[in-house]
Amino acid sequence: MLLLLALQPAVVATEPATLFQTAPIAALLAGVYDDVFTLGELRRHGDFGLGTLTALDGEMIVLEGCCYQVRADGQVRVLPDTNTTPFAAVTFFKPTRTTAPLTATNLLQVCAALDRTLPSANLFYAVCITGRFDAVTTRSVPRQRRPYPPLATAAREQAVFHLGPVEGTLLGFRCPAFVKGLNVPGYHFHFLTADRQAGGHVLDVRLAGLCAAVQELRDFRLTLPATADFTGADLSADRQRELQEVEK
Ligand code: ZN
Repeated sequence: MLLLLALQPAVVATEPATLFQTAPIAALLAGVYDDVFTLGELRRHGDFGLGTLTALDGEMIVLEGCCYQVRADGQVRVLPDTNTTPFAAVTFFKPTRTTAPLTATNLLQVCAALDRTLPSANLFYAVCITGRFDAVTTRSVPRQRRPYPPLATAAREQAVFHLGPVEGTLLGFRCPAFVKGLNVPGYHFHFLTADRQAGGHVLDVRLAGLCAAVQELRDFRLTLPATADFTGADLSADRQRELQEVEK
């Protein structure tokens, strides 16, 4: 009995950190932009992450437990718990390592530099870089109307913002190549300025001497939308090429 009691805390301590997401990315790519999953519920699964809002109404950043919307007109607002999301990925961010200072002139260099610090390409990682960025290019997408077009079509209306030099937080995830259809293979970053006045989905970044805080995520949880839009959607197509077009 004593032995059992002694073992119990160790079992709790080894529970892996989880990447939680509300829908497969394949549904978003196919134009499933409405869901009933609330931000209040999302915040029970994480305090850090990214996503979008119902009707594809802009980009979402979850930072320090607060959900922010960056609209296509560039405005940022704090979202109430009653808002809903068709796609979001979150975790409870507890970084387990910090990289050496990174310097990069574009997003690909940031990703390559991060990759060199990671122990394996087959794990999930949450990544957060906070500081003064030389430049950040972001985008946001405008709210869509039904019948919804696929994401690649909707993203052609994206608004692009050139920020910097600017203080802020670049945050997101690195997913393994095997998540195709579920999430974005490789890196996916959103950005929010320190004054919470601008941000969006990151298209490019230039930085010098900033360290990244990184957390390994060895558990992955996908919940499926409880809507007729989702259950009735044809998600059989391989939209990897469209994903590349939309993300980069
Ligand atoms: Zn994004």
